[in-house]
Amino acid sequence: MLSQTVAQIAPAALKKALARLQKHGFKAYAVGGAVRDALLGLAPTDWDITTSALPEEISAVFSDCRQIETGKKHGTITVLLEGMSFEITTFRADGDYKDARHPEAVSFSKELKDDVIRRDFTVNTLCWNETEGVIDLCGGLQDLKLHVLRAVGEPDRRFKEDALRILRGLRFSAHLGFQIEKETAKAILENRALLLEISKERVREEFTRLLCAPYMKQVLLEFHEVIEVFIPELTPLIGCRQDTPYHCYDVFEHTLVATESIAPTPHFRLIMFFHDFGKPKCKTTDTNGVSHFKGHQKVSAELVEPILKRLRYDNKTIRMVTSRIAVHDLNAPKTKTEAKLLLSYIGEDIYRDLMQIKRADTLAKADPHAQDEKLARMEALLSEILQNNECFNLKMLAVNGNTLKASGIKAGKEIKETLDFLLDAVIREQCPNEQKALLTFLKAKKEPTT
Ligand code: ATP
Ligand code: MG
Repeated sequence: MLSQTVAQIAPAALKKALARLQKHGFKAYAVGGAVRDALLGLAPTDWDITTSALPEEISAVFSDCRQIETGKKHGTITVLLEGMSFEITTFRADGDYKDARHPEAVSFSKELKDDVIRRDFTVNTLCWNETEGVIDLCGGLQDLKLHVLRAVGEPDRRFKEDALRILRGLRFSAHLGFQIEKETAKAILENRALLLEISKERVREEFTRLLCAPYMKQVLLEFHEVIEVFIPELTPLIGCRQDTPYHCYDVFEHTLVATESIAPTPHFRLIMFFHDFGKPKCKTTDTNGVSHFKGHQKVSAELVEPILKRLRYDNKTIRMVTSRIAVHDLNAPKTKTEAKLLLSYIGEDIYRDLMQIKRADTLAKADPHAQDEKLARMEALLSEILQNNECFNLKMLAVNGNTLKASGIKAGKEIKETLDFLLDAVIREQCPNEQKALLTFLKAKKEPTT
C-alpha cells in the first residue's frame, strides 16, 4: 500500500535510474526528503538516490548521461536523465565529527544500514525502490504516521556531531507540522549554543526556510531560545506587553502571528519577523497605563540592518527588508491626494508591499479585520491612479530639469527643489500636469500679484 503510494508519485526517470543501477548489480534506493514527502502525499521536487555503487561505478553506469561531479569526494554525482537531475550518492558511514559540522572522514559502505543511521531524522531515512518497496530501518514509518520528528540514534550525540541539525529539526517540524519528540527537543535546547560554530550562511539558509514554513509560529513559540542564540536582539520582544486597545499579544507573539499571516516568501517573512524589533526600545507607558511605541518603525529598521548583515543576507534583501520596515506603520491613504503623496514618497513597489504588510500586521491584532476597508480603499486608489496615468513622481511630471534650465532656473539645488514643488502642486491638483501650465504656475508663484 505504502510502496504503491511512492510508486505512483515516483517519476519514470527515477525508476529507470534505480533499475539501471540494480541491473549492474548494485543496490539503489530513492532516499530522504522525497520518499518522506511522497508518503505524505506531497509532491517531491528533488529525488536523491543512495547506492552501493562507488562514484566511479556510478559514473560508468550513466556514462551516456550528462554528469556533474557535485561532491565526488563525498560520493555524490549528479546525473541528468530524461530532463531530470538526480543526486546519486554512494552508501556512506560517517567518521568522527570534530567541529560540530564536518565529518572528519567519509568512508563508503556496502550496507544500506550504515547509510541510513548517519541521517538526521527517522522520517528522513526512508528508502524506496520498485522491487523492494519501502525500506524502514530506523522506525521512520511509525514516526511519519504519528507526525513525530525524532533524531536517529542518540539525540544529544547527533546534535553535537552537527549542530546544523538543530535548525533543520525546527525547519522540518515547521514545514511538516510534526511534533518534535521529547528527547530530541531536549537535546535541541541543550545544544543550541553550538549553532554559533556553524557557518553564518548555513544558519541563514535554514532560518529563512524555517520562517517560510507553514507552522513556523508554533515552532518558534516553543523553541525561541534556539533563535536567540544567533539573534539575541529577539529576547526583549518576548514578554514585552502591548497595553493598548489594538493589541492582544505581546510583541513576540504578535510578531509570530504577523509573520505567519503574510505570503511565505523570504522577503515578506523577514519583513514581518523583524518589523517590530525596535518596539521594546521605544516603549513608553502613559498615566493611564497605555503603552506607546513612538518612532518604532524607524528604530526597527536601524536595528535590523546590522542583524541582517551579520546573518550574511545579500544587500538587495537587506535594502528590501529595511525599506519596508521603516514605513510599515504609515497610515493607509484615505484620499487620492494622500495616495499620490504616499506614492511619491515610497514608490509603487513599496506601496504595494505595504498593503500586504499592513494586512498581516492587522491580522495579528485584537481586531484582525480593522483595516479591511482602509486597505481595500488603498488598493482601489492605486488602481484608479494608474489607470488614469496620474502623475505621482518626477518622471511623470510634464517638466524636467532641462525645461526648467531653459526657463532660466539655475542648475543645482534649486532645480530639484522646484521640481519637488511642482510635483506637490500637481498631486494636490493646484495645477494641471502640463508644461505650459506648470511654467505659468511657477512664474505666478515667483511674482505674486500685489
Ligand atoms: P528538503 O529537500 O525538503 O529540504 P530533505 O530531507 O531532502 O528535505 P536535504 O537537505 O535535501 O533534505 O537532505 C537530503 C537527506 O540527506 C535528508 O533527508 C537526510 O536524510 C540527509 N541529510 C541532510 N543533511 C543532513 C545532516 N546535516 N545530517 C544528517 N543527515 C542529513
Ligand atoms: Mg532534498
